Amino acid sequence: MKGSTRGVGAIREVAQLDREGARFFHQANLVAADPRVKYIFGRAAEEYERAAKVLTSVAGKTKRRPTVPKVFPFEDYQRLECYVCGYEAEAEELPEMCPSCGAARYAFEREMTQSAAWDLVARTTRKVSTFARKAVPRVSKEGMKAALAEAMAIRKGLLAEAKEGKAREDAS
Ligand SMILES: [Zn+2]
Repeated sequence: MKGSTRGVGAIREVAQLDREGARFFHQANLVAADPRVKYIFGRAAEEYERAAKVLTSVAGKTKRRPTVPKVFPFEDYQRLECYVCGYEAEAEELPEMCPSCGAARYAFEREMTQSAAWDLVARTTRKVSTFARKAVPRVSKEGMKAALAEAMAIRKGLLAEAKEGKAREDAS
């Protein structure tokens, strides 16, 4: 496969960012309090997942995780605080009730407006798109170029959806 693998590294880096996007928005979806905000994060997770699949299908998976810039604010969603007593829990194992004060799971969920949620989707997606655009000249194979373009179109669609959503919320 040597010689035909030129550009694979670039594609794997972009795929890694898309996978991180899917993971981040899935996590944000889990901890969002408002079902409408959950929907927004769910949409973003879906689209990042789709883009990652397209890229992985041409570049294959790698055991070594490529180094990519930090785009998604994971740390904002990793530890959650009970708003009743301040107890901290890990987002991945959100308790059914607060082990410290007995408050319902709801006390750990994150309040966010739909406008802020769409804005988070738009900001991160713009950054990933900028990164992905720089990968294009590093890729020579047509199939890989096509996959990059397809993933770009998916992110573009998501960005348009986020911009529309934010504009709608800001106008209401
Ligand atoms: Zn508590």
